[in-house]
Amino acid sequence: MIYESEHKGAKMRMKKKVGIPRALLYYKFEALWTTFFKELGATVIISPDTNKTIKDLAVRYAPDEDCYSTKLYFGHAIFLKDKVDYFFIPRFGSDHEVNVGCPKFIGLAQVLDSLFPDFPEIIMPYYSKAKANHGKRRLIRIIFEIGFKFTLNPVKILRAARRAIKAHREHEKNLYISESKLEKWLQSKVSLNIKPNLGNRNEPLKIALVGHRYLLNDNLSNLNIKESLAEKGVDVITSEQMPRRLIEDQMNKLDYNMYFDYVRELLGTIMYFQENNIIDGILQLAVFSCGPDSIILELASRYSQRTSGPPLLQLVIDELTSEVGFSTRLEAFLDMIERRN
Ligand code: SF4
Repeated sequence: MIYESEHKGAKMRMKKKVGIPRALLYYKFEALWTTFFKELGATVIISPDTNKTIKDLAVRYAPDEDCYSTKLYFGHAIFLKDKVDYFFIPRFGSDHEVNVGCPKFIGLAQVLDSLFPDFPEIIMPYYSKAKANHGKRRLIRIIFEIGFKFTLNPVKILRAARRAIKAHREHEKNLYISESKLEKWLQSKVSLNIKPNLGNRNEPLKIALVGHRYLLNDNLSNLNIKESLAEKGVDVITSEQMPRRLIEDQMNKLDYNMYFDYVRELLGTIMYFQENNIIDGILQLAVFSCGPDSIILELASRYSQRTSGPPLLQLVIDELTSEVGFSTRLEAFLDMIERRN
């Protein structure tokens, strides 16, 4: 028995540690990546929720001209660097024939690698359907190239990939709500986020919270917006939860193609609620110095001027955004909605 537990202990110690910064695309591919590495037998270490230490590292080491979310990525990666054997920072361009993600997602791994020579090896597969015509063959190659770093068993690698894809699909299925659930949310029969504190109110205010997933799910960078809204009696739906068909229907109404993939759900959500006028307000959070956000801010603002939909508040966030100023604007917005109602 003693021998067995020692043997197990040695095996555990030999497990390779893969670090994944909790930032940017992690918020989209969390289930896919973590399942894959765990199934390969690796220990997956994800950086904690953004905290003051991580933010300080980000501000100190990231290039000034980067957007706030990319700066935070730097903070998360630096926080993890001495705790892992590998980093996993894919250079992910797109999984769509035409539409692309942010160019930052592609360059980040190489920038970190060249700026920080003391970083552990970065696993940085490149995949872009739109720009490099990558498809299944490329994906299989990537899966095996990564897999062989952790096991020599090809069956185990294929099984890990299959389970990872299944976990990813499951994650998306749970995230995107159906149109009937949206209807129930509108009638206050279900809550999709933190239950609102109604206080003296009979009904909660209904607000769509729109923004990048890595902003909406990172409480430090969004200044705890979901909790603040719930405390003020607001029932929230986020752009990442919206039924996909409604987003795509809105995108089809544009007379141009919205080329940046991840902002389609942002603009689609705003357009849908502006057109249908079925909620009390829309709150759009944008990241300072984000190129795609600056386009969406402008388009959303023009669209809302053309329609008689709910009021739209747009807030741009960076590392200097003060909690007091932020909360004052939020309260003024909610007061205005109350008066309007
Ligand atoms: S989409 Fe905007 S916020 Fe996201 S990484 Fe690119 S520039 Fe930064």
